[in-house]
Amino acid sequence: MKRIGKYLYSIIILVVFEAVAVTLWLTKNNLFYLFNFSYIGLSISLGIFLFARKKKYSRRIVQLLVGLYMLVYLGIICRENMQIEGFWYYLFTGVFEAATIHYAIAKIFGPLLFGRGWCSYACWTAMVLDFLPYKVPEKPRKKLGWIRYITFAASLIFVSALFLAKVGNIEKIMFWAFIAGNAAYYGIGIALAFVFRDNRAFCKYICPITVFLKPMSYFSLIRVRCDKDKCIDCGKCKQVCPMDVDVTDNSRKRKNGTECILCMECVKNCPKNAL
Ligand code: SF4
Ligand code: SF4
Ligand code: SF4
Repeated sequence: MKRIGKYLYSIIILVVFEAVAVTLWLTKNNLFYLFNFSYIGLSISLGIFLFARKKKYSRRIVQLLVGLYMLVYLGIICRENMQIEGFWYYLFTGVFEAATIHYAIAKIFGPLLFGRGWCSYACWTAMVLDFLPYKVPEKPRKKLGWIRYITFAASLIFVSALFLAKVGNIEKIMFWAFIAGNAAYYGIGIALAFVFRDNRAFCKYICPITVFLKPMSYFSLIRVRCDKDKCIDCGKCKQVCPMDVDVTDNSRKRKNGTECILCMECVKNCPKNAL
């Protein structure tokens, strides 16, 4: 029984994703959804399974499995714009598929259940940024989070302008916007990582998706909690956190609480197993 308990999250995630896969396959009569969500569910479930077995690179394995699939297969081969511009595009055309489904599950309603797990286990931008040397920020956090609202507005204005101007062949523009947008994200993200000596500077200051992710993850069901009876206030958890979260505070208003990406670095490094 204890053995099953150890792998319970892995099993739950697999079941949830399979339920989504089968539901979308049957309701949309499209086998792609069965393949897509089964693959993602299996990848994440595998990562959680490996984490439960204390394998060092469990998170990175999932991040590469899901991130590369979305970037290379969905984005480049299938030409689906899965960035925020693609979300606006499909939303304006009124179809609930591709980026709208992706955003609804991974970035808007899903975070009510699994917080910002997307940012740790699936995002193809962070997949590259996490290879850089500053895994833990070496400089204090800057008050630059307002930039995310500008990039968010810019993406909305860009797609709205295409629709208002009745530009033809928007599908093709969306594909090239995906390529250019990703190139810009990687370029800016890598530059900021070195300037701020922080791999996740792009996530903290620029990423427009956090406008959805932060408020929704505030209510997340799955979150890291601290057992105050075990905690010795050694501060190790804060030293290893890439997002500057005060994880010893169990309240929803904990410092940088909506920045937690569930990477589990704090859990792995706590000497008292208090997290
Ligand atoms: S904040 Fe944005 S760039 Fe960073 S991991 Fe999350 S979705 Fe990706
Ligand atoms: S690492 Fe563990 S023991 Fe140390 S402060 Fe954090 S929760 Fe407490
Ligand atoms: S180290 Fe802990 S508190 Fe910080 S982002 Fe990762 S899971 Fe969240």
